[in-house]
Amino acid sequence: MTAAAQFAECPPVAPEILAEIKSVLGEGGYSEDSLRVEAKLTEWRGKWKGHTPLLVLPKTTEELSKVVRICYEHGVAITPQGGNTGLVGGQIPFGEILVSLERMRTVRDVAPTDDTMVLEAGITLLEAQQIAEKAGRHFPLSLAAEGTATIGGVISTNAGGTAVLRYGVTRDLVSGLEVVLPNGDIFRGLKRLRKDNTGYDLKQMFIGAEGTLGIITAASLKLFPVMNSRSVAIVGFETSQKAIDLLARAKQETGGQVEAFELMGRYGLSLVLKNIPDTREPLEGVYPWYALIEVASGDPEGAETSMERLLGAAFEEELILDAAIAQNDTQAAAFWRLREEHSAAEKVEGAAWKHDISVPLSRMAEYMEEGAKAIEAFLPGARLVAFGHVGDGNVHFNVIVPEDMDAKAFNDLRDEGSKVVHDLVHQYEGSISAEHGLGRMKTQEALLYKDPTAVAVMRAVRLALDPKRIMNPHVLF
Ligand code: FAD
Repeated sequence: MTAAAQFAECPPVAPEILAEIKSVLGEGGYSEDSLRVEAKLTEWRGKWKGHTPLLVLPKTTEELSKVVRICYEHGVAITPQGGNTGLVGGQIPFGEILVSLERMRTVRDVAPTDDTMVLEAGITLLEAQQIAEKAGRHFPLSLAAEGTATIGGVISTNAGGTAVLRYGVTRDLVSGLEVVLPNGDIFRGLKRLRKDNTGYDLKQMFIGAEGTLGIITAASLKLFPVMNSRSVAIVGFETSQKAIDLLARAKQETGGQVEAFELMGRYGLSLVLKNIPDTREPLEGVYPWYALIEVASGDPEGAETSMERLLGAAFEEELILDAAIAQNDTQAAAFWRLREEHSAAEKVEGAAWKHDISVPLSRMAEYMEEGAKAIEAFLPGARLVAFGHVGDGNVHFNVIVPEDMDAKAFNDLRDEGSKVVHDLVHQYEGSISAEHGLGRMKTQEALLYKDPTAVAVMRAVRLALDPKRIMNPHVLF
């Protein structure tokens, strides 16, 4: 477990204040059951373990509003938590009251004609997809933690996932929000409208705010038509630039049907094949780079036709070296597994410095080449695993401990090594956190790169809404 001491602590909360909070909550509104509380204090990888004076489990927005008002009056800090799958420590309290949204799970409305559904924050992402499906619509946000991650959490981290290329990030999928503000007031912005030009679009402030501006209690989410055909392929390339060239072609030639375009380097794929049971080479030959491509269409035969046409032409022009199109759902799932098991396969190899970065797509191949050279110069023998949602300009650029190096010595170099990666990202006009946010973990580092005016505006907005700084005080700036 990484020392919690690296994270700032909140002062103890007086017993009278805790009693006042408990008094406004209905049955089941808080828990002192150590097993239940403990489970929410450890980050899913076991990286940090926090502590809290009280776990609050509101059932309604009004109940939560009363709790937050008491906290605000007494200056008591709060950490909101959804499914606890966040990767930067923002949902783990270190002395704050922990507010879990797990009991706020009402489906308030599903309106296929408006192409919206209104869900409470504690509903999981997987359940949200199923609710949409039952209504004959598609909710496209999808990520590996979807069985546990909640609507409140994915909105607060502005999660990306596998379908960003076609549908955008979470920000693009939200049409309205209900939020309990730091002083306990309720922002009632559950609009179902696509168009509303009546001043600042306030909901945007709370999306990606990582629980620093208020607690999201419900959201109005956009729905899309269900696709009637899908085609998944794995393609081999000589260079990452050729993969990026194919992506540009695929977007144009399929008329925007590409839903996912995931890049994998050979080394990462070889670790999956070596460390994950029941996986096999997807192509006959071995290639330096691979892409997993998914195309979806409303036309029942459309996806397969588009995929075949695209790959046939790319093969003729020697843009790709080999390709396999999945012949059924089982094969498609096996292809996806090769991509999704990258993190698990890496873990078997030992310590790693993880980077979740984005750079403009036009500079991605050059960045990866330069980045590989910079890492080799910094730590000869370090093993680089590059993979991710390259269609969104996002790549996980992870560095694994050299085979003959002690993990502690490697971990001691983490800050310096990550700075090598992130300095280059900054030089390439990219972001050091493309998906997971800053949380408690990356805030100090982000200050090195973020525009000072942007940081000042963020601080001013926060101060205006939360002058006592009670909401997730040690997250973000
Ligand atoms: P939590 O982890 O509980 O919280 C995350 C942050 O949001 C914290 O700062 C917390 O305080 C805040 N928060 C939570 N709920 C609320 C609320 N109701 N109101 C206000 N603030 C709140 N991310 C991607 O973008 N793309 C991916 O492809 C992706 N894949 C992942 C795969 C795995 C296996 C895992 C473990 C994580 C992945 N993530 C990915 C990280 C992603 O950020 C989280 O999975 C998800 O968005 C967080 O949802 P959660 O409900 O678990 O939130």
